[in-house]
Amino acid sequence: MIKPQEKSSLFRKIPKTDRILEKLPGDIPHGLKINIIRRVLDDLRQAIVTENLKSIEELDLKHVLPLVKRELDKSLRPSLRPLINATGVVVHTNLGRSLLPEEVFRQIFEVAVNYSNLEYDLEAGKRGSRYSHVEGILCELTGAESALVVNNNAAAVLLTLETLAKGKEVIVSRGELVEIGGSFRIPDVMARSGAILREVGATNRTHLRDYENAINDDTALLMKVHQSNFAVVGFTAKVPMRELKELGDRYGIPVIEDLGSGNLVDLTPYGFMHEPTVQESLKAGADLVSFSGDKMLGGPQAGIIVGKAELVDRIKKNPMNRAVRIDKLTLAGLEAILAIYRNPEDALKRIPTLRMLSMSYEETRRRARKFARRLRQLVPDGVKIGYMDTVSRVGGGAMPLQELKSCGVVLDLSGISGKGVDAALLERTLRAGDPPVIARIEEEKLLFDLRTVREKEFPVLADAITKALESVTGGKA
Ligand SMILES: *Cc1c(COP(=O)(O)O)cnc(C)c1O
Repeated sequence: MIKPQEKSSLFRKIPKTDRILEKLPGDIPHGLKINIIRRVLDDLRQAIVTENLKSIEELDLKHVLPLVKRELDKSLRPSLRPLINATGVVVHTNLGRSLLPEEVFRQIFEVAVNYSNLEYDLEAGKRGSRYSHVEGILCELTGAESALVVNNNAAAVLLTLETLAKGKEVIVSRGELVEIGGSFRIPDVMARSGAILREVGATNRTHLRDYENAINDDTALLMKVHQSNFAVVGFTAKVPMRELKELGDRYGIPVIEDLGSGNLVDLTPYGFMHEPTVQESLKAGADLVSFSGDKMLGGPQAGIIVGKAELVDRIKKNPMNRAVRIDKLTLAGLEAILAIYRNPEDALKRIPTLRMLSMSYEETRRRARKFARRLRQLVPDGVKIGYMDTVSRVGGGAMPLQELKSCGVVLDLSGISGKGVDAALLERTLRAGDPPVIARIEEEKLLFDLRTVREKEFPVLADAITKALESVTGGKA
């Protein structure tokens, strides 16, 4: 217990704001400097009050100044910034989902810094439609009659239901009432759209007769939803699109599908389990299909709706469409990414998401070896660098059962564990670095799954690891 008079003498030792201020660079906004200094000094006062001050030196200017400078650096750098994803989760929702090819970004850049024909018909010399820039190519790639793009797939689903089924019933299988995460749940979205969910079948099995028995005068749509992030295995049955479409036709009810990720290329030649592509779903009869722009498609965040012109037109005219409108930068990026899909082999090479997904095990091993060789020359003695077979994931709530066999690089720190260094500490240090590195811990070793690290990032990653090791060992390992 510190006596009150001792506390007040400690308070007096806290450096004055002006003394700190005069030591800081003049080109930083004054208000920001004051705010940061105040925050740091408040923390010190708090530490005195709660008796958490470790030593009296913590109140010295030479201790306080670096603290203020570090906080200033933190405030001055962008909050949203690039990092290295060494988790092996390709479509990592928390880490930005999809990386655009640089050529796609150049197109976005040009549209961003110049005026554009966003809503201007250059031939007619009058107002045009922003959707015209991607509608043609979407129809060309998917075989659809018409297309519309909005802010994201959640908006696409909401808008579709609000337009076509408000106040009416939509029949969905109980096995497809999925929650995507971030509170997007099919039953809730349905309720928000004003449509009435009519669930049919059982969790594991739904038959055509289940849909048929539920049809009545209020039925607006038959809907299929991609299970996305879960799978039902064992004794299961679901109705294929082709059969559902025949049923819909018999009763004059449109059939729609929320495909979630929505692939445009078939990845089965790369060892993937079969997933219906957008083209296949339309070919099987879906009247409308919606999917994301930034899941396995590998483009910018967007929701894409393709299908029958009559239905798409109704959705376009819905006033709610304006509220979920796609912005011009996204549109530029989407057009550029879709252009790459004209040649599917090109898409697999040039779109980072597809390149990472289709990377063979042999390729991941070659890359692990290459990176390990580089790293071994840099790390201190006692840190062992090896390889480990591991499993990368598609991520983004797509193909949860799909395992991508990979080889990663592991850091075994047991040789320096006497210094209090372990994988968890190094993982934290890397995460706090610049750029931050997100790695995985497996079997108490730090694992870098390089499937999601581009080779051009190898030097930066090696440097980050070296610096983090220096920091946790105090450079004494
Ligand atoms: C991911 C997903 C959504 C939401 O898509 P966003 O583009 O993230 O808004 C909707 N439905 C399904 C089935 C999904 O998998």
